Amino acid sequence: MFVWLCAYGLPGVWGQAKSGVASALPSNKQLASPEIEQRLNALLKKMTLDEKLGQLVQYSDSGYTGQAQTAEEAANPGKNPTAPHPVDAMELVSTGRLGSLLNTVGQARTNQLQRAAVEKSRLHIPLMFGADIIHGYKTIYPMPLALAATFDPDLVTSLAHISATEARTGGVDWFYSPMVDISRDPRWGRTREGAGEDPYLGAAMARAYIRGYQQGDLSLPTSVAASVKHYAAYGAAEAGREYNTTDMSMSRLHQVYLPPYKAAVEEGAATMMSAFNALNGVPASANRYLLQDVLRDSWGFNGFVVSDYTAVMELRNHGIALDAATATKKAITAGVDMDMMSHYYDAELPGLIKSGQVPMSVLDEAVRRVLRVKFALGLFEHPYAEGKEVTAAEAEHRPLVRKAAEEAIVLLQNKAAEGGTAVLPFKNEVKKIALIGPLADDTGEMIGAWGLTKREPDVVTVKDALEQRIKQSGGSLLYAKGTEIETDSVAGFAEAVDDAKQADVVVMALGESAEMSGEAGSRAYLDLPGNQEKLLEQVAALGKPVVLLVFSGRPLVLDWAAKHVPAIMETWFPGTEAGNAIADLLYGDVTPSGKLPMSFPRAVGQEPLYSNQFPTGRPPVGLDLNQPPNGDSRFFSRYVDVPNDALFPFGFGLSYTQFQYEGVAVSSHSVAMKEASRADAKDLVTVTATVKNTGDREGTEIVQCYVRNLGASLEQPVRSLKGFERVTLKPGESKQVTFKLGFPELSFYNNDGHAVIEASDYTVWVGGSSTADLHDDFKIVQ
Ligand code: BGC
Repeated sequence: MFVWLCAYGLPGVWGQAKSGVASALPSNKQLASPEIEQRLNALLKKMTLDEKLGQLVQYSDSGYTGQAQTAEEAANPGKNPTAPHPVDAMELVSTGRLGSLLNTVGQARTNQLQRAAVEKSRLHIPLMFGADIIHGYKTIYPMPLALAATFDPDLVTSLAHISATEARTGGVDWFYSPMVDISRDPRWGRTREGAGEDPYLGAAMARAYIRGYQQGDLSLPTSVAASVKHYAAYGAAEAGREYNTTDMSMSRLHQVYLPPYKAAVEEGAATMMSAFNALNGVPASANRYLLQDVLRDSWGFNGFVVSDYTAVMELRNHGIALDAATATKKAITAGVDMDMMSHYYDAELPGLIKSGQVPMSVLDEAVRRVLRVKFALGLFEHPYAEGKEVTAAEAEHRPLVRKAAEEAIVLLQNKAAEGGTAVLPFKNEVKKIALIGPLADDTGEMIGAWGLTKREPDVVTVKDALEQRIKQSGGSLLYAKGTEIETDSVAGFAEAVDDAKQADVVVMALGESAEMSGEAGSRAYLDLPGNQEKLLEQVAALGKPVVLLVFSGRPLVLDWAAKHVPAIMETWFPGTEAGNAIADLLYGDVTPSGKLPMSFPRAVGQEPLYSNQFPTGRPPVGLDLNQPPNGDSRFFSRYVDVPNDALFPFGFGLSYTQFQYEGVAVSSHSVAMKEASRADAKDLVTVTATVKNTGDREGTEIVQCYVRNLGASLEQPVRSLKGFERVTLKPGESKQVTFKLGFPELSFYNNDGHAVIEASDYTVWVGGSSTADLHDDFKIVQ
């Protein structure tokens, strides 16, 4: 409190008024149409209480989950929270008492239910079909964390669009995506579903998904409504443990965790999903500050909010509601419009309305918000899934999905094997490859979690692709699984080591199963699971050129591998075209360009580890980050047993060519406060740098711009990403890259949740990772 009051009191603190205003403009212009308003008001007048409640609840086709059914359950709200309670969805829909379904997909069933809504129910209000289509419908692309490694928002927009196009043919018109939770702790399994640790990259990715799903026009037959989740700060779950508490300063909330949400709202996101976690003591699904003050009043969000799965019921487990009625009242008055799976709104709201505890106007407003989106989606005119249904990966979408996997994979290490040259890309002499590992030939694992609509037979594994390739060059592939993902058995080791002995090159496909990350996939260890590292040790001991492919939903601890294995690629879970993309990279048909969206730790004890950390009073390196470390002294912010830095830092990734930077310069070394304080100032300082391809093959570099603000009233991160650009260069070619820094890049959030800028110093770095060293400086002066 003291700090922000000081900040307020300082002369030269600007910009507060800009982000806290209550008169924000509607974020989605389509949802602000007078025609829609007229239609929904007319409709609302005709609706009975039951019909209104129907619009505010969501069940899966088979029922809802977890309302206390017995006195015993009621006394133990935590008991059996996931037991399904069957409903007759068709009956509810036909009588107007169910307005949307969860994870019902496919033309036949969605059209059948829709017919009941449109033809049988009294008011003919169409259903919405929401589903977890997270990284593709039938043609599956890399998981979201992997897509963040592309630093290619346009590609993400195209991918989001193809999944919308495919899904609409199967009746799905609402995606529970994008997941935009910032995650700085890979123990949290849902790290895989978002864009990683950085708010700037996260915001860029959030926008990209919304553009692809909604196309700026929800009524298009290939658009779906996005549900941005999980609002908010879920990714800060303490100790990386799923569903755990988050507690943080207002400054951190607004500066780190909210920017991707804000960006999604600015892009016109039609819906939001309220999160499971409590934030500063108030569960997100009953958090009026988040749902009303920030989302609606400050950002102008005019879509609707759906709770996460049974999140309304879980308010009881959080201990802020002793019964279902209180949970319902807290959720709806805080701003949760639709109750997913709790069966609380329809059960409890009639009583709450009758007793006056929830005004009818609150209920009506929630119904309006839901109907508004249904009108904007054009569902009243075109309720049915039409056209040829997409039931398998689409041939015409495969090239884009393959390109995505190629851009997402990150080359972490590429050293020479004993007495040779860099292992990758493969040379002509490679005639025999030994492919080893439990992830070399597993179609299901390549897709990863959230494969609701996946089709395993469509997937190309590494084994499929390498077999093809090596045949073309007259060689052969030896394959041994070697071990399972999680086992103690070493029964397969001997065969694997034997294959490795015979090969020119060994490719090890190791990592996690898809199930080890994603929802409820928190881990306390971040090593290669089971005995995979032991197998790797035995193979590496042969001294052959080894390439380690790491399949994982999160950064793993690769410390041993980094010391003993010459080449390492983080391949994530790459999707339908996994094998082809990996083969393209191994053979050098495509040059790697992916960069890490999260820091890879040396040891799990470093977590949470992220590049835009705060400095501390005893930093292990001097204030000037280009100074050498502070010697051997003990009394600095450090571990006694492991260095502070990441093994592979944020923004890092190798290529088969090299890039050199020079001439990092800012357009002005002094900017007047008067100019800088305008919240719409977009171009206060222009940063330029030249990047040159000094290697012998074409390659793409992701040029990154980082900023540090020193001398402000709140301490600021040691550096923060504020711009990036993909640059493709031929050998010897160079390009000047420009970044514009304005109010959004140079301001910070104070503890009142306001963006401010102060007279202070700035350092700007440009380079190929968060450890770039070329920099220039400027000041904002009174
Ligand atoms: C998850 C959400 C998901 C929802 C619906 C929840 O358990 O947290 O991410 O969208 O289920 O399936």
